[in-house]
Amino acid sequence: MIDLDGWSPEQVGLYEALGTVGNGYVATRGAAPETTADGVHYPGTYFAGVFNRLTTEVEGHRVENESIVNAPNWLALTFRADGGAWFGDEGTSVLEHHLAFDLRRCLLTRRARLRDPEGHVVRLVQRRFVSMRDRHLAGLQTTIVAENWSGRLEVRSALDGTVRNTGVARYRDLDDLHLSHVEAGAHDDEVVYLTVETNQSHIRIAEAARTRLFRDDEQVVAPGEVVTADRYVAQQFRIDVVSGDEVVVEKIVALFTSRDEGISEPGLEARDWAANFGESFDTLFVRHAIEWHHLWNRMQIEIGTDGDVASLVHLLELHVLQTVSDNSVGSDVGVPARGLHGEAYRGHVFWDEVFVFPFLSLRFPQLTRALLLYRYRRLDQARRNAAEAGYAGAMFPWQSASNGRDETQTLHLNPKSGRWLADASHLQRHVNAAVSLNIWQYFQASADLEFLRDFGAEMILEIARFWASIATYNHGLDRYEINGVMGPDEYHEGYPDRDEPGLDNNAYTNIMAVWCLCRAFDVLEVLPPVSAQELKELLGITEAELDHWNDISHKMRVCFHDGVISQFEGFEHLEELDWEHYRQVYGDIHRLDRILEGEGDTTNRYKLSKQPDVMMLFYLLSAEELTDVLVRLGYRYDGGLIGRSVEYYAPRTAHGSTLSRVVQAWILARQDRGQSWKIFLDALHSDMDDVQGGTTAEGIHLGAMGGVIDLLQRCYSGIETREDVLRINPVIPPELGRLAFDIRYRGHLVMLDLTPELARVRVDLDEGAPISVQYRRLVHEVQPGGTLEIPLV
Ligand code: BGC
Repeated sequence: MIDLDGWSPEQVGLYEALGTVGNGYVATRGAAPETTADGVHYPGTYFAGVFNRLTTEVEGHRVENESIVNAPNWLALTFRADGGAWFGDEGTSVLEHHLAFDLRRCLLTRRARLRDPEGHVVRLVQRRFVSMRDRHLAGLQTTIVAENWSGRLEVRSALDGTVRNTGVARYRDLDDLHLSHVEAGAHDDEVVYLTVETNQSHIRIAEAARTRLFRDDEQVVAPGEVVTADRYVAQQFRIDVVSGDEVVVEKIVALFTSRDEGISEPGLEARDWAANFGESFDTLFVRHAIEWHHLWNRMQIEIGTDGDVASLVHLLELHVLQTVSDNSVGSDVGVPARGLHGEAYRGHVFWDEVFVFPFLSLRFPQLTRALLLYRYRRLDQARRNAAEAGYAGAMFPWQSASNGRDETQTLHLNPKSGRWLADASHLQRHVNAAVSLNIWQYFQASADLEFLRDFGAEMILEIARFWASIATYNHGLDRYEINGVMGPDEYHEGYPDRDEPGLDNNAYTNIMAVWCLCRAFDVLEVLPPVSAQELKELLGITEAELDHWNDISHKMRVCFHDGVISQFEGFEHLEELDWEHYRQVYGDIHRLDRILEGEGDTTNRYKLSKQPDVMMLFYLLSAEELTDVLVRLGYRYDGGLIGRSVEYYAPRTAHGSTLSRVVQAWILARQDRGQSWKIFLDALHSDMDDVQGGTTAEGIHLGAMGGVIDLLQRCYSGIETREDVLRINPVIPPELGRLAFDIRYRGHLVMLDLTPELARVRVDLDEGAPISVQYRRLVHEVQPGGTLEIPLV
């Protein structure tokens, strides 16, 4: 249970995001049902994958943005006492407010006391869920108690499609009206419906609501008066109450879109479901709760520490699963960086998958598979992206949404200075490496050769081809280079003295490009020879091309300075920032980009990073893998390189992204366990404490959430799935004490129980091959049904 107590205008948005209920198909923010978007509250409902494009004139430029669409607000429910003002309208006072998130059953309960301007007080208990079991159904149950008055209670239950996308202040100069009216009305005495359509992508969204009133457990026959308007339908009920009476309003809603499979027409389905499959709130809720019970069995992580850490970890797991779940399988959706919890980053898909998939692949491998297909369906567009930019192969975009076109904004607003600025972040070509890595890691964990053969291999090969074509040969150095790109650190878009954006030889990009080329060779080895040959023929890959890839994979350039890997060529010539000065003047200096731009300066001039860039290499690759690449490239690798690089970059990192702490906690796990645990706790709290100052209200940070869970699952346990071996090498922080969880590994259920002294690995009893488990240099074979106990030294 997570409690979100109290009410203040500053807190509302944060609680709405954290109180989001969803099922991987649709999600709804934890907004109070009687409220509308008024600058404090922001009701938002988002269907995964429902995007729409709008064009706006900004500073003389026409900019087109594709956004996840805020769908009609199905929660909308208000009431008034004895002819007074409607609750939620101006003048409503919040006397008490308390939200409780029952994580086990994924139920949000609101307890509140409200007073209208005439002094009528009502006491409310509202429970809501979006069904994990019946993905098209959601329920809101409201118990209203007339506390100090008697008279007529009027209840208005609506489907409100007059909503716009106004959830993010800095997008407010942009056009925000996505929905047009299709139809609205009453289906029968109990059910009203609304269908709207997005005005560019022409996706229909249909909702139908069945509202019933109860008193003393008896349904009150009070046929509602139906009101329709443009993009709006409501049903209004009247009932006489005396002080102390309790009225229960039950609203069951069916939600469909024209993207759904296995339907006729969304409006028809929504009406049919609301009228015929709705059952009661309680019956539907039980079905939903059973589904969650099963999910918790599959994602359980037992830790030997206090309840606070455990509940927060559960909250993160819950939000990940509310964004992507089995309900997303078959829906052609990706992993939106900010969940389905708000409109930040417009619902786009970035490289953040790299932080989320490791958790999913070892728990719900079918889910990673489905989400990787989101990329595969956009492979042709990625080929076009590459061709348009003058490259070969496939170039997945930095920001992806409906069809895989690059949706990265070309202009962004600095709220600090009020200036619109050119945005070069689309130059983060490294997202391609993340796609390859995700496919390869999924394959390593699942041994799903069929996926690799039918989908994964083609992407890995086309990405390798892209890297080979973006790399240019420098005769003087006899090295390949990748120029004009951006690394993960978004505070460096280019050189201070160069007009065009982009950096040369970003170490992260170059090393990951080599890693990708090596995996392309691995893929051709792993596939059955016939499949490998067919794929080469289909893609027109010649031996000469493979030789070229091989050459690049041996001669890619990596720059070094002061005994560390240089973030990019010339990093050493940048100026040092006076960190102390900025801390003193501004306090919170996460967003140094905005601060410096506000001063007429630029982060490009300084030795600083928004988030790990070189350090990302130590996060994603094991020391062994990184050594292999550097040795392959002919660079001298000494054991101190990682330590020195961390020491150099850590104090120069502003942590302007929530991903930053996850990476740092990971890297320090083996060097400085105490510090790692401290940073783990910061990362764990980032959304709960809204550490980026107001950003969580605009959507949770899904990458950081997935990454924190993965810190427990793979980092502190030291799990690696590589080269057909399950490696374990625990470093359990003393504060954690114990770590026990089950993973799905290559078709087996593997139960791990780890303490600082002992690792116990049990493989479930089923048919199938034994698995190889490695600790340090020793590889053990564990048969199905067998248990391995390894004393840890
Ligand atoms: C980070 C990116 C991340 C994006 C979406 C940005 O602030 O710098 O690395 O992909 O947010 O989460």
